[in-house]
Amino acid sequence: MIKYHPSTDLLDAFAAGKLPTSMAIALSAHVELCQECQAYVATAEEKLASTAFDQETVGDEELLVNEWDHNAEDEMLAAIFEQAANDVDALEQGELKQSEPRATQITVGDKTYALPRSLQRFGDSSWASFGKIQRARLNLDEGATRASFLHIDEGGSVPAHTHKGYELTLLLDGTFEDESGQYVPGDFILLDSRHHHTPYTKEGCLCYTIADAPLYFTKGVSKLLNTVGHAIY
Ligand SMILES: [Zn+2]
Repeated sequence: MIKYHPSTDLLDAFAAGKLPTSMAIALSAHVELCQECQAYVATAEEKLASTAFDQETVGDEELLVNEWDHNAEDEMLAAIFEQAANDVDALEQGELKQSEPRATQITVGDKTYALPRSLQRFGDSSWASFGKIQRARLNLDEGATRASFLHIDEGGSVPAHTHKGYELTLLLDGTFEDESGQYVPGDFILLDSRHHHTPYTKEGCLCYTIADAPLYFTKGVSKLLNTVGHAIY
């Protein structure tokens, strides 16, 4: 059962179409897998539709950004919304909703995985391999914010690390675990510089990830770790 969900702030922003493409893709994929959040977004969209007329005159975009208190989690969300400001043209063109699905599955080595709808147009992405970790970059053109498929072979792990910015991991298939416990497909794991973790997968897993800064490894620096760092970011 899914334990980790997007915050209501993120769900509200998704319903309002105010997230950068990378994050909107993640929300869309989570909502497809999670009935709870699906119901929340449907209700939020209904509310927005019924108040659309008022909002046109209020200019609520400013409000959305300024409402945050200045704690660490809010700073993380602020970073996400800041990206959205640069990304708004793409969303207004309806790129995310109108694009035709290209592949319902993605293949990594000898394994094939089903893809949620929002990721199907990236099914033909090409993989780079770093030991037990494979990464396929999505070309979203969001500057320092990078979105990728991340696949880890069975028995693979990512060295202990933290993040300068934020790191979103949406587990699509398989399982992995870290110091906080085990994750299942659909789990939406948003971490920032306060978090340190060491993901490990017994059976292998496919994730969708977003990182807005390189990873920072907490246990020494070596060429190997730097290579893995580039794989993830
Ligand atoms: Zn959910």
